[in-house]
Amino acid sequence: MIKILILGGTSDAKELANQLANMPKIADKTQVFSSLAGRTRAPFSPIGNVRIGGFGGVDGLVNYLEEMQINILVDATHPFASQISENAATAAKIVNIPHLMLVRSAWIKLPDDQWLEVENNIAAAKVLASEKNDIHRVFLTIGRQEISTFAHLQNIWFLMRMIDLPDVNSVIPLGKILCDRGPFSLEDEKQILTEYKIDTIVSKNSGGNATYAKIIAARELGLKVIMVQRPILPSGEQVPDVETALQWLLNMIIED
Ligand code: NAP
Repeated sequence: MIKILILGGTSDAKELANQLANMPKIADKTQVFSSLAGRTRAPFSPIGNVRIGGFGGVDGLVNYLEEMQINILVDATHPFASQISENAATAAKIVNIPHLMLVRSAWIKLPDDQWLEVENNIAAAKVLASEKNDIHRVFLTIGRQEISTFAHLQNIWFLMRMIDLPDVNSVIPLGKILCDRGPFSLEDEKQILTEYKIDTIVSKNSGGNATYAKIIAARELGLKVIMVQRPILPSGEQVPDVETALQWLLNMIIED
């Protein structure tokens, strides 16, 4: 029996686990474990074994891989979840097991896009702070964990979208919170941007289709987008989508 650990928290990770579970010949030869960080209060769980919560750094992950006798590690976490990806790459090396990163492609700036690409959320907040940018009403779509980075910007009104409400101790920027989870339609995104008179969107370059409609909407409405670039990933084998990850796994399983 080949044991596969999928580090998840993304729709791609869930889709990969579900597809593996639905391939009878593969399901007979493998045992799949999905791991979630436990950030969202009602996560969409994949089919099969699911564990929730941090491992306790590299050492904790190494212990888990050894104790569970995991044979293959797939890191299908979000492109901005850089800590767990670093830990996974290091732990897989220590335990000496194959390691694959499923990293969906970043969005590409098109000619009509008015993007300003910045390194991180702190840099995004600095751009907003600069008065010459004439930014007043911002759609902040970076999740709930780092919204405090924008809380000192008292001259800007924020519409903040996230899956769950922020922690009670978070310092929250001035504005309104919308709790919602993608995928979002172009029609709905345009409606929100118009209704709240948004002039600028702050977004992570997450890639994928589920949250791309706001980028199309910004293009069509002529709005600015401050696009936060991805953190650097550890070196190692990478695939861009579930189909290629599945093929990589099938090759591993057949070879075994
Ligand atoms: P992170 O900064 O890379 O990780 C922080 C810590 O959370 C890790 O050191 C690990 O704790 C734990 N962790 C993260 N992912 C885990 C997983 N799949 N299973 C078990 N433990 C995990 O991660 P993050 O940016 O906070 O993201 C947390 C989760 O949300 C990830 O699974 C990611 O796929 C998902 N997510 C993130 C974003 C985003 O924008 N960052 C967006 C959508 C979904 P220990 O060190 O204790 O093991």
